[in-house]
Amino acid sequence: MAGLLMRNVAVLGATGSIGTSALDVIARHPDSLRANVLAAGSRVDALVELCRAHRPAHAVIADENAYAALRDGLRDAGLETIPHAGAKALAELAAGDACDTVVAAIVGAAGLDSTLAAARAGKRLLLANKESLVLAGELLVRVARDAGATIVPIDSEHNAIFQCLGGCEDRAEVARIVLTASGGPFRGRNRAELANVTPAQAVAHPKWDMGPKISVDSATLMNKGLEVIEAHHLFDLPGERIDVLVHPQSLVHSLVEFIDGSTLAQLGLPDMRTALAVGLGWPERIASGVGGLDLRAQGRLEFEAPDLDTFPCLRLAYGALAAGGTAPAMLNALDEIAVSAFLQGRIAFLDIPATIEDGLAALPVTPADSLDALLQADARARDFARGRCGSGRTA
Ligand code: NAD
Ligand code: MG
Repeated sequence: MAGLLMRNVAVLGATGSIGTSALDVIARHPDSLRANVLAAGSRVDALVELCRAHRPAHAVIADENAYAALRDGLRDAGLETIPHAGAKALAELAAGDACDTVVAAIVGAAGLDSTLAAARAGKRLLLANKESLVLAGELLVRVARDAGATIVPIDSEHNAIFQCLGGCEDRAEVARIVLTASGGPFRGRNRAELANVTPAQAVAHPKWDMGPKISVDSATLMNKGLEVIEAHHLFDLPGERIDVLVHPQSLVHSLVEFIDGSTLAQLGLPDMRTALAVGLGWPERIASGVGGLDLRAQGRLEFEAPDLDTFPCLRLAYGALAAGGTAPAMLNALDEIAVSAFLQGRIAFLDIPATIEDGLAALPVTPADSLDALLQADARARDFARGRCGSGRTA
């Protein structure tokens, strides 16, 4: 990166799929990027290993009970990295002087506090944690704007649209955006064929190597539903101007159609390091480790409409966006609990959309006029879903 000062990066969710990809890109640019804060949920050993490789000033484990293990692990590794534990420490470090750039890659609503803290502190925010936008998108975008924080979306579709918009601010120039979807591992199946699918089959995504929660969301098409709501907040467009197109090859990451008939698309291999490099280098381009696209070798690019009867989650998400208020927050919470129950073998695959549909029908939508109102709706929805899915360890 020519002429750029050293960027200090906090990677929140460092042990996950996105976190690992972010660290891979950062390590390619030792003169301009430094992983200075690393945070993870509960896997102390994996976090210590990352500290050994990247030598951050701070490491945070969200699980309070794991503090001593982290402290001892860092000491035994001979590292000077300062240990921290708990959600409060995580949010403080995301907002503090140890970083100017935050990769928000915690999975689920658990990422909201630290994402909001980074936005409020005016950081460059590389936002992968889509659930925080679905839960509290208006608030998050407003807080970021007021604090002068730059949000670079890291979801591949939104990163593609960010690139295609190329700084276009006037939404009247945009006819619509089109989010592409791979269709997931069960594309082409009917409902009867989905009744007995297992968690192992659901997380075996054909194109992307991702964490378990987003992989199941891709299999139900809820991932695309969350992304429609995410796009609404990031790009200030109504649901009617956000379309979804199934594209099994996952090479066209999304498209923007302008009012003059031009459609711009962003293409690339399905590897999240490209989106992360866009965020880490922006507005400059930096190497990501991802090779170019050889379309001649790829052969065909196919496109088809999503099957909303077999995969009702996408329809439910459009409905929640249209209903507004606390509906998207409840959709997200119902989904998190149902996916967790499915991964633990307590409910069947088709119980995921059924739980969400029943919850949205049963729970009142209230105005989303405060963070408190959103968190209460989130809690009510989690209770509902736990009741319906049976108890057990939940996310
Ligand atoms: P993952 O399961 O691989 O990793 C999740 C990370 O979050 C881990 O580091 C884990 O330790 C951490 N974590 C979990 N609970 C936590 C808590 N309570 N407090 C602090 N940290 C916690 O997930 P992933 O696939 O890397 O996805 C991360 C986020 O990025 C999700 O919101 C996902 O939707 C989004 N995303 C991922 C991809 C992808 O390709 N993996 C693509 C687009 C968007
Ligand atoms: Mg995506």
